[in-house]
Amino acid sequence: MLCDEVKRVMYFFLDESLGDSKRHAVEIHVSGCPDCEVRVVVHKKLRSFIRRRLSPVLAPDTLRIRLTQSLRAVPAE
Ligand SMILES: [Zn+2]
Repeated sequence: MLCDEVKRVMYFFLDESLGDSKRHAVEIHVSGCPDCEVRVVVHKKLRSFIRRRLSPVLAPDTLRIRLTQSLRAVPAE
């Protein structure tokens, strides 16, 4: 497996939706490739970070409206 392929299947790999043989191939590659190992770690952190930020509640309407208004107040460059 090549780095490009690892990049391509990274999402599915972390999502654990990759087939057994493919996942195994990724694991073997990652264990021997520092670049991809770093990539896996970074993606994992990113995923848990995003999950924490998105859950569990969406911004209340009032906050959302205020945010939209303040964004509009920012002058366009
Ligand atoms: Zn690699």
